[in-house]
Amino acid sequence: MSAQTSSFIQNQTASNRTPRKINRDLIFDLVRRRHPISRADLARLTGLQRSTISLIVEGLIREGWLVQDSVRKLRRGRNPTFLELNRRQAIIALDIHQSHTIVALTDIEGQISFQQVLFAPPNASRTFSLIVSTIIKIRAEHKRLSFCGIGICLPRRTDLYLRKQIVAQNFKWPGLSLKSKMERAIGLVVTIDNVANVCALSEVWFGSSDGLNDLVVINVCEGIDVGIFANGRLVRGQRGMAGEFGHIQIKPDGPLCACGNRGCWEMLASNRAAISFYMELSSPAETPSFELLVKYNQGGDRAAVQALIKMAEYLGHGIQMISVALAPKEIVVVGEVTALWHTLSSIVDEQLKKNAFTKVPLIRPAYDGNTIRLRGAVALVLEQDSREY
Ligand SMILES: [Zn+2]
Repeated sequence: MSAQTSSFIQNQTASNRTPRKINRDLIFDLVRRRHPISRADLARLTGLQRSTISLIVEGLIREGWLVQDSVRKLRRGRNPTFLELNRRQAIIALDIHQSHTIVALTDIEGQISFQQVLFAPPNASRTFSLIVSTIIKIRAEHKRLSFCGIGICLPRRTDLYLRKQIVAQNFKWPGLSLKSKMERAIGLVVTIDNVANVCALSEVWFGSSDGLNDLVVINVCEGIDVGIFANGRLVRGQRGMAGEFGHIQIKPDGPLCACGNRGCWEMLASNRAAISFYMELSSPAETPSFELLVKYNQGGDRAAVQALIKMAEYLGHGIQMISVALAPKEIVVVGEVTALWHTLSSIVDEQLKKNAFTKVPLIRPAYDGNTIRLRGAVALVLEQDSREY
């Protein structure tokens, strides 16, 4: 058994799941990462009995996740049957933003074969109808595919249990009602999570993080959302509210936050914070977008440079807090700020070095800022299947 596989098993075992489920996840993950692969190779890599491998593989084939490729031949000796992912299994991924929604058709490897941007009409029911009719059209145009679910990435955290509303202005539905309404309308299982959790799953399923080490994803946008992947799974906490580091107070006399507190981390280190620092420094006639601020910075605008340095210092302050609290192996940053990571990362690092007790993690931008949310929505469907097994 490889060290990597052994460590994967230990991590999986630590998460309280049944041995049957741990082995099933392990086999599926190995086929996903190394296909085409034979049963003999699976037995060698996992250390499991051939009979156990066969039972699990037959189950995964029956459920439609895997197929056998008997055409591939070895040059010498017996010809084993290789296992592949079933390319006819499809997933619908939705990435919901305040002003628009991206609908994508993908396979179970997260490969996007089609995507469409839908601009949100001014009311929720029209937006919902538009999304539903687009999905129905995609299914009608791909009758040969077998659709296994819909994954939805929400723009901010939604307390699914308390039925609090999605934060986006044009999308005022409780999370649970969105799930049940869409399941009724389309007839597929719908899995929903916030952008930080979705991005953490995306890194583990499709990025360079393989789930062996603890990982924290920090989504920096209008606010700050944090997703925590530890001991082989997402940390969701009570009512799915774990990871609200954005509302930890950093500066008691800082700006008032919507949560009622003053000087929360997201009031000092988010895109919105950088814009307000810029407004204080240069008092322009109009409030710029964060994208414009990044351009001003690249053009050498002094106030923009100063505002983004201040944002990076506060980002470092919060990242240091997370590093002390969770000691993850990696911290992945998602958002427009990563366009400037080559210049801002040293400022973030400086903050981390101020505390001798900090176990400094690897801090890097996300593997692919453009598709991470969509592929994370795919991972939600795959993870949901694995959770319910
Ligand atoms: Zn707050």
